[in-house]
Amino acid sequence: MRRKLIAGNWKMNGSKAQGLALVEALAAHCREAESTAAAFDLLVCPPFVLLPVIEERARRAKIAIGGQDCHPKEAGAHTGDISATMLADVGCSYVIVGHSERRQDHREDDALVQAKASAALAAGLKPIVCVGETQAERDAGQALSVIEKQVRNSLPAGAGSRVVIAYEPVWAIGTGLTATPQDVADVHAAIRAMLQSEAGEEAAAQTRILYGGSVKPSNAAELLALQDVDGALVGGASLKAEDFWAIACASVA
Ligand code: PEP
Repeated sequence: MRRKLIAGNWKMNGSKAQGLALVEALAAHCREAESTAAAFDLLVCPPFVLLPVIEERARRAKIAIGGQDCHPKEAGAHTGDISATMLADVGCSYVIVGHSERRQDHREDDALVQAKASAALAAGLKPIVCVGETQAERDAGQALSVIEKQVRNSLPAGAGSRVVIAYEPVWAIGTGLTATPQDVADVHAAIRAMLQSEAGEEAAAQTRILYGGSVKPSNAAELLALQDVDGALVGGASLKAEDFWAIACASVA
């Protein structure tokens, strides 16, 4: 049985005060609805500088914290970068790698994403490896082949179920557009089938595949009820505690 993972990607948003207030509001929900909160895994991925600010409050509320990216190397002359080891050191248990905004803005390719995911595993973190097609690729009927190539080339060999995959159609991120439940079901089933042939039945059955792309309280229940959808990676709606909590609760409705 795969526990649902509801992950919030705050992107480049939030001050110390806003980050703390957000985690405190989520923690209050977890306290008030203890048995509901025990039914799913809650994760927030703030900007790097806010990780130490929220770590203690998140830990006390059993809310996991994660980075939004990491460098493939453990340490060294890489100005401006943060390693997976550093993320683990400040209390992270997850890190997002290969988000489409990084693939686009920083020209990250599958090989780099794979190296980052490997570094995350070596540091004891669970990488959330993002894949997803652009609108042009979907229009050209290439969605599944693009996603399969990204999965094949971005996952570290032998990772088994230690990775989380996030299917995020690029055209649905931050746009208010959401993939139809049928499209999401088809892509998630294809990814699961691929994992079965590459990693074996057991690892495939245990690997969580998240959906991301304009998930909000009004569409979360329908998406999270799909057979191969094991949680959500939430951007905009994760900045509002009420919305993020409502999405998490929809995962166990
Ligand atoms: C994301 O940033 O991963 C994301 C899915 O954003 P949004 O929910 O805002 O579309």
